[in-house]
Amino acid sequence: MKNELFIDAENIQFDEIGPELIVKVYDPKLGYHGVVVIDNRNLGVAKGGFRMTPHVTAYEVSRLARGMTLKNALAGLPFGGGKGGIRYDHRTVTPKQKQLIVEDFARKLKGLIPEFYISGPDMNIAEREMEQFARANGSWDACTGKPASYCTRSTGSTSSPQAGSGQAGKKKRCGLPHELGSTGYGVALSTIAAAEYFKLDIKGMSVAIAGYGNVGQFAHKFLQEAGAKVVAVSDSQGTLFNEKGLDWRPLWQKKTKRGGTVTSSKAGKVLAGDEIYELDVDVLIPAAGSDVIHDKNVSKVKASIIVEGANIPMKPHHEERLHKRDVLVIPDIIANAGGVISSYAELKGYDEAKMFKLIKQKIVPNVKEILRVMEESKMLPREAALAIARERVLRGS
Ligand code: NAD
Repeated sequence: MKNELFIDAENIQFDEIGPELIVKVYDPKLGYHGVVVIDNRNLGVAKGGFRMTPHVTAYEVSRLARGMTLKNALAGLPFGGGKGGIRYDHRTVTPKQKQLIVEDFARKLKGLIPEFYISGPDMNIAEREMEQFARANGSWDACTGKPASYCTRSTGSTSSPQAGSGQAGKKKRCGLPHELGSTGYGVALSTIAAAEYFKLDIKGMSVAIAGYGNVGQFAHKFLQEAGAKVVAVSDSQGTLFNEKGLDWRPLWQKKTKRGGTVTSSKAGKVLAGDEIYELDVDVLIPAAGSDVIHDKNVSKVKASIIVEGANIPMKPHHEERLHKRDVLVIPDIIANAGGVISSYAELKGYDEAKMFKLIKQKIVPNVKEILRVMEESKMLPREAALAIARERVLRGS
């Protein structure tokens, strides 16, 4: 019988970059199927998180792994690209079952981690799971995005340059959870840089954020602090809309502290989940699942700037269609690099302030450079980014 995780595996593209390794994980007792795709290691150990969703496929993970190869190259990090996925319904899994699955996944990947692949959080996987993962795997360097209270004085693996025994020495290194908001911060910086490109002031610009997890919530926080007006946010239950703007803190508390949905808030009116992609806003930030902008809704997008907080929120040909309508799309491989830059900082033993500084130093010039190349060469922003990243990956430096 064909395994559902591999249902579209024939679509996986093999080219001059990769993928070099695809590892299938299965546990008959726990009843989960998982996969790790190591795309390329020319620049270092493969780095990228893993997600738990009911519909994840090996093909989707391979696209995400390629994204990591390119993202890490663009950010100038000594990492290759990889990604993992566990096909399991995160809505029905109990905390205990989830822990058992995460720990089993980590143990089964022992031979691979951290020499070939270092993991991290992604959809429905957060700091708690990262600590469970590292402890079960037996190496603090097994993954990043761990809690700040989880520290080590070990030097890490000698074969993973980012852990670099020589560089990190025996200094204390602690987790830098993505719950500090690293990815959302980078997404907000990308949005501000994109607005500046149009000579627009971010203050007062209207923003819709589709997906209100780690990335979406912090993009909201940092954009609100910069003066933008976030008029709509959505989660799996629907969209919350208020043209006067939505305040970040009560929504964040509702989602994070109380595990609720944005649609139960009284701060705005509730619309259908998919309506958020069609709102008349200045900026649209997809920050949830893959391929949320597709054949049926791409022509209805009204935003003039799209900043890809999520990974692969649309296929390249949809970006092309938007580009033809003068919609500026800042691609995922630039916009959401804050998370992996934070991962690098964690492995190096940096503190929170140094991590945020590094994100700013890397993301803002990168967005500007891609827009400059786009202007000069008339390429799409993604094409401009890809040209730079591919060259670095193939050159291996
Ligand atoms: P998360 O699990 O914290 O949150 C996901 C959110 O999406 C939840 O609020 C959920 O309700 C919402 N959602 C699910 N289905 C939806 C739907 N149909 N419509 C609207 N919302 C829906 O996930 P995350 O870590 O924020 O990741 C989101 C995206 O960002 C993913 O593509 C991930 O790969 C990417 N990303 C995350 C990080 C990170 O640091 N967490 C880094 C880079 C990229």
